[in-house]
Amino acid sequence: MALALLGTMCAVLPPALSAQGEAPDAIKVAPASPVQGDTLIVIVAAPPPAAVRVRFDGDAVPVFSLPDGQRRVLIGTTPDVATGGHTLSVTVTEGTKAPQHYSQTVRVRSGHFGVRSLTLPPGTMDLVSTKNLDTEWRAIGPVLARRTPVAYWSGPFQAPSTAPIDSPYGVESVYNGHREWWHQGADFAGAEGDPVVAVNAGVVALAQNLPLGGNTVVLDHGQGVLSEFIHLSSFTVHPGDRVARGALIGRIGATGLVTGPSLHWGLYVNGRWVNPLFWLDPHPGLTS
Ligand SMILES: [Zn+2]
Repeated sequence: MALALLGTMCAVLPPALSAQGEAPDAIKVAPASPVQGDTLIVIVAAPPPAAVRVRFDGDAVPVFSLPDGQRRVLIGTTPDVATGGHTLSVTVTEGTKAPQHYSQTVRVRSGHFGVRSLTLPPGTMDLVSTKNLDTEWRAIGPVLARRTPVAYWSGPFQAPSTAPIDSPYGVESVYNGHREWWHQGADFAGAEGDPVVAVNAGVVALAQNLPLGGNTVVLDHGQGVLSEFIHLSSFTVHPGDRVARGALIGRIGATGLVTGPSLHWGLYVNGRWVNPLFWLDPHPGLTS
């Protein structure tokens, strides 16, 4: 079954199919044509015990349950996700019945990201050593692998700082003349000591000093969604703490690989660093 309803916010199975007994009556996909960095939201109206499998370009994506029994899949897109058509496929298996397969093409549009040049003090780039990268990954890797089944968040996210954003998501970063990586979050140009608040509810998954991130806090919002806050001067939370949206978690600083006081907020969605600003807006099935 090919669904080709591009241009609408949702692609919904025709009523004829939805009326077929145990068949899933709807698959909703939004945004219909995401921009690189957006989070693709797939809602499948097939409550347990139906088994739901979702693939994006052939790669399996985690499927979680909503309180009403619907299933939700969140697929992060990034500047590395090519513009143009991608294949989203859904398979629903109920009992001993033959699996039902659905697929549609999702067209990803360019984020038109620019380039930023950063000049770091001499010696700072020495921080980017194999040893430090290894230390960083040993701490962060297992945390980013968390796939907590429940969603702690509700409603739109809020910015972690009232400071203006001086470096947006997705831009290519050139450090001291060397092109490195695209920017995996948004930077807030606050002053040393300014408050940093939880962007939404979650559990503190990590709060420690790291070679590159400096003082780092990671919040697990559940269902494969995690926020990272780095370069803090201090943090006020500990692993395992439950935090509410807007709660103080730390203060802006200049620790780790950074040119001065700055807050970096990264949002990780099931394996990809997405544009966190997408989550500030209401999106049906996600933040509204
Ligand atoms: Zn940053």
